[in-house]
Amino acid sequence: MEKKRIYLASPTMHGEEQEFIKEAFDTNWVAPLGPNVNAFEKEMCEYTGCKHAAALSAGTAALHLAMRCLDIGEGDVVFSTDLTFAATCNPVTYEKAKLVFIDSEYDTWNMDPEALKRAYEVYPNPKAVLVAHLYGTPAKMDEIMKICAEHGTPVIEDAAEALSSTYKGKQCGLFGDIGVYSFNGNKIITTSGGGMMVSDNEDYTKKAVFLATQAREPARYYQHNTVGYNYRMSNIVAGVGRGQLLHLEEHKAKKVAIYKQYEKAFADIDEISMNPLNPDGDANCWLSGMIIDKSCKVTPDAVMDALQAENIESRPVWKPMHLQPVYADNDFFTAKGLQKNVAPTKGDNGVGWDESVGGDIFRRGLCLPSDIKNTEEDMELIIKTIRGCFGK
Ligand SMILES: *Cc1c(COP(=O)(O)O)cnc(C)c1O
Repeated sequence: MEKKRIYLASPTMHGEEQEFIKEAFDTNWVAPLGPNVNAFEKEMCEYTGCKHAAALSAGTAALHLAMRCLDIGEGDVVFSTDLTFAATCNPVTYEKAKLVFIDSEYDTWNMDPEALKRAYEVYPNPKAVLVAHLYGTPAKMDEIMKICAEHGTPVIEDAAEALSSTYKGKQCGLFGDIGVYSFNGNKIITTSGGGMMVSDNEDYTKKAVFLATQAREPARYYQHNTVGYNYRMSNIVAGVGRGQLLHLEEHKAKKVAIYKQYEKAFADIDEISMNPLNPDGDANCWLSGMIIDKSCKVTPDAVMDALQAENIESRPVWKPMHLQPVYADNDFFTAKGLQKNVAPTKGDNGVGWDESVGGDIFRRGLCLPSDIKNTEEDMELIIKTIRGCFGK
């Protein structure tokens, strides 16, 4: 018999989503605008505490529009978290600006403030700093914001994985000039696909909506003074989001419980540590992760293979951007300064090797199944399988 598939993170629907969709159908608001879009923005503002929001077709679209809002373009430099999903930084490349990657630290796996300082020594005038909160764990925002403020650099916060995570009591996504959330299929709440830009500056969210709807000027005829996009969220999709938002806190509680269960189950295995949680934050634990000790011979690949044999999905930690062939020519800073000749050559599909923290976490870490629909039996099987890899 085929073994039951256990997922990393899959959508969890509740029922209210369909009521909002039905309302949209009944009133024929089947368009990239409508009452659900407006209400979803308002409800996200109420939930997060941000002043303004723009509902968009994807988190990536929100990040792209953030570039346009801050006038990032050719000749500009943008500092970005290195250990993250490519979607964080690709929009910088869409606008032909130059990406400079900043290494992570071991305390939260996020942007290292020390490495950020090193980058400023070489590039004193970046146009923006792009900070991600990996797997829902808040970055060291006090330190990062202080450095950026000293240099007067705007901050874009990629909180795609961190909706409902807080740092010192404030929602992730609200620290920067612009914050971004994603509602893709595996995120803590999903609309199938979608994203949102948030900001306390209404100029940004207004500009985002303008650009997201083809940059049509207010005239009877079609007048365009700048290049726009088709990036607005549809009223159907927003209905799913409204239904999901009602269950966000419940999703978070379940994700945190999964993390705690793993933590407890592996407490006696010295070779394993869980992904760190920022003590100044309250993480949503979107994905639980673990890292294997340097001295241990067991590889993440071996653990993933053992899980796969039980039809359990797991995933490597994001491969750092400085090790990606597409960004082979970009500068990369660790706490020690500019790293030379660490990147693979273009077209190289190898894993790459260097002394960076992000590279080290990538080589030793993996993401564990964190689906909130996993049953007690599922969790027991996952835990038993992983323990077996370490002879327990
Ligand atoms: C998912 C994700 C994105 C992209 O969001 P989409 O809605 O899929 O476009 C960006 N950054 C990070 C860190 C993500 O995890």
